[in-house]
Amino acid sequence: MNIKIEEAAKHLSEVIQIKSLSSRNYEEIDFEPFLKIHQWLKETYPLIHQRAKVEVINTGALLYTFKAKESKKLPLLFMAHMDVVPVDEETVDQWKFDAFSGTIENRIIYGRGAKDMKNQMVAFFEATELALKDGKEFDYDLYFCLGYDEENGGRNGMAKIVEHLKQNGIKIGTVIDEGGTISNNVMGIPGNIALIGVCEKGFANVKITAQGIGGHSSMPPIHTALGKVCKAASLLEEQQMPIIVSDVFKEMMNTLKPFLPDEISSHLDVNDSKKVEAVVANMASANALLRTTTAVTMALGSPAPNVLPSIASIMVNFRIIPGDSIDSLINHISEVIGDDFELELQQCSEPSKISKMDEEYQLLQQTIKEVCPELKAAVPFVMVGATDSKYFDDICDHIYKFGPFKCSEEELKTIHGVNEFLRFEDLELGIRFFYQMLQNYGK
Ligand SMILES: [Zn+2]
Repeated sequence: MNIKIEEAAKHLSEVIQIKSLSSRNYEEIDFEPFLKIHQWLKETYPLIHQRAKVEVINTGALLYTFKAKESKKLPLLFMAHMDVVPVDEETVDQWKFDAFSGTIENRIIYGRGAKDMKNQMVAFFEATELALKDGKEFDYDLYFCLGYDEENGGRNGMAKIVEHLKQNGIKIGTVIDEGGTISNNVMGIPGNIALIGVCEKGFANVKITAQGIGGHSSMPPIHTALGKVCKAASLLEEQQMPIIVSDVFKEMMNTLKPFLPDEISSHLDVNDSKKVEAVVANMASANALLRTTTAVTMALGSPAPNVLPSIASIMVNFRIIPGDSIDSLINHISEVIGDDFELELQQCSEPSKISKMDEEYQLLQQTIKEVCPELKAAVPFVMVGATDSKYFDDICDHIYKFGPFKCSEEELKTIHGVNEFLRFEDLELGIRFFYQMLQNYGK
């Protein structure tokens, strides 16, 4: 393998310059930038385009199929989204360079998409092009799936690709999508730890409404409609859904235990959920990995200070952990706040299933260790955000949400934020990872 990193970096810079913004509604999507990316891929990766069958799905999404002569196991699938989020108007002058210039300075590529996630797309295209150049023959089917509306839910892009795969009866062995990265400060542990997302939380926006008697506020009842919904809000904060100590959390903590400070590890018995609860009770990030979280985010009362609200409402954003469901959440809410309220489920999605942590998981772990020898550990975790890979739940048992790049907590803020960037060495790590994955998967 002979990675020409300057060339690969130039490729990432080029595709960052294609301003590929998307939209929730199909009718509002400008497909021109996506079609430009299609053309760019064709010109940049000729061997891939000689070898693979390329299908355009629902105008802008791409499905690449590399058929093996004889396949020994279920297919391997790499996925990415071509769309990026826009730059917030108010932060434009905080960018070092224009977000869509793809400027390269001191072996760093700047721009929207450098980390989320044109880097990953470029990394697996570079790796596969190199593998083909090196004469790679596949003994399994390989797929690439590129969506165009992940940042808006993925319903027109990735969801349609998966529908197409389902119609053709295709099952996938392993999916690799964006998600966790190689982080340097997991639970305060110094050194490199790979975080592999094996499931993702669902969510629900629930509007809770109470009725009241309107009128002037000079002779109010004890509880106004707004007072009632505020009480409901405070009850929901106090009585959260119980924690679920899943196998994912157990595996994560058991792997990390040797690296944790004694004062934490000695108290942390993952088989005792009371102890786990006591340790994580005050850690918002750990709390989010263990339970359905409750965030009261909006409230509406009367239009004036001296008017009683005849109706009042709050909005609560729940993030549902695998193990809970939308149904169990609604039951929980009713039990906690009573039946004096009207509940309206506004948007929601169920949590994903949990991917298996078997030999396919170990193969991934092994591959990360091979390309990143300084790695301390690779651990599974629950993704708190949503990705396009949830659409594969029905046709794949091993969906791993992992980007093979080093990313500190500080750098994480540049994603959807200001001065998003990628170092050459990280791009190289990504390319080596996908190249190695192609070698290891067939074994
Ligand atoms: Zn993304």
